[in-house]
Amino acid sequence: MSRLDYEALLAGLPDAVLGVDEGLRIVLWNPAAEALLGRSARRVLGRALKDLFPPDTSLIRHLSDTLATGESRSESEAVVEGADGRPSYVSIVTAPLAGAGGAVTAAVAVVRDITRLHQLEAEMHRGETLAAAGQIAIGLAHEIRNPLGAIRGTVQLLKRELGDEARWGEYIEVLLKEVDRVNRIIEMLLDLGRPVTLRPVPLNIHQLLERVALMSDEMASRRGIQIVRRYDPSLPPILADEDRIVQVFHNLVRNAIEAMPGGGRLTLITRLSMDTLFAKVDLGRGLKSMAEVQVADEGEGITDATRARLFTPFFTTKSGGLGLGLALCHRVVEEHGGAIQIASEPGKGTAVSCFLPIAR
Ligand code: ADP
Ligand code: MG
Repeated sequence: MSRLDYEALLAGLPDAVLGVDEGLRIVLWNPAAEALLGRSARRVLGRALKDLFPPDTSLIRHLSDTLATGESRSESEAVVEGADGRPSYVSIVTAPLAGAGGAVTAAVAVVRDITRLHQLEAEMHRGETLAAAGQIAIGLAHEIRNPLGAIRGTVQLLKRELGDEARWGEYIEVLLKEVDRVNRIIEMLLDLGRPVTLRPVPLNIHQLLERVALMSDEMASRRGIQIVRRYDPSLPPILADEDRIVQVFHNLVRNAIEAMPGGGRLTLITRLSMDTLFAKVDLGRGLKSMAEVQVADEGEGITDATRARLFTPFFTTKSGGLGLGLALCHRVVEEHGGAIQIASEPGKGTAVSCFLPIAR
């Protein structure tokens, strides 16, 4: 192979390849490295790696080790930061390069972006947790349903027997109300566990959003929340089950409202998705552009601790919360071959994006 061929090879590699000399000065930086690490070769060649990354990052540690020992190093899950400070999950492999005398004079690192893999893995894990929870939920709900039905029936009998005696009437109303509340919780649980049969049809997403906005209008204005629309009118119809998808948006809008007790703006955004992770992945159905529907609020935001558990059934930070809203949303969107992504900044707000298939 001529020298030119090597350069073409390096340039064409999807993995970032970078090389350093004994002083950890950058001598090689391929186009994939430019993309992953957010800096052009022109700007970094000849500079010290420590000028670009904090000295304790995996990348610098492994390259230093390799230079010092002449041995290869590898790590399957490390984090590197791009120029904009955004972290990427990567795998790193380093190797020594020996000079004419046999001594190690340089080292190369191959850095592979596994962010996408990482996120898909998290998606899958979430799915498994939900499936297991669904099984338990179904079993429990069935067990509770029958005795509950018996209790309700008996209380109604009592009500009839006691007639108009106001003294008892009040207690009986409380009993009935609470039994009905347990029933509703059980219905929601069964919803979560039940396999969903979708009837997907082409739907105008803006009409659906307007319906949800109307349903939530009163609750919003009571809290001084203004609903703002940023619709892309050219967005084609989505392929979805009307009732289920309305349920999803309703849950998301409700969460957004609940996150802003002091008022604020609730923004409904639609667009054809281009550049996010899920933009072109119709999970399970190959590659496709997706419609993105985003519900953004200016509320309290989500802390990292909460973030990890958002989709777990029964996880809630609200005193009266059930913690089933997002679990259901996740499930329904996934059944549509779509995905949910949540971006949040504590103190500033939260944006929940649903990626849904387009009808063609
Ligand atoms: P619930 O609303 O009953 O608590 P959800 O599954 O809808 O259950 O939400 C789970 C948790 O996720 C909430 O308790 C809250 O902590 C957090 N959350 C969801 N949406 C938002 C949001 N828009 N802003 C801040 N936190 C949110
Ligand atoms: Mg909720």
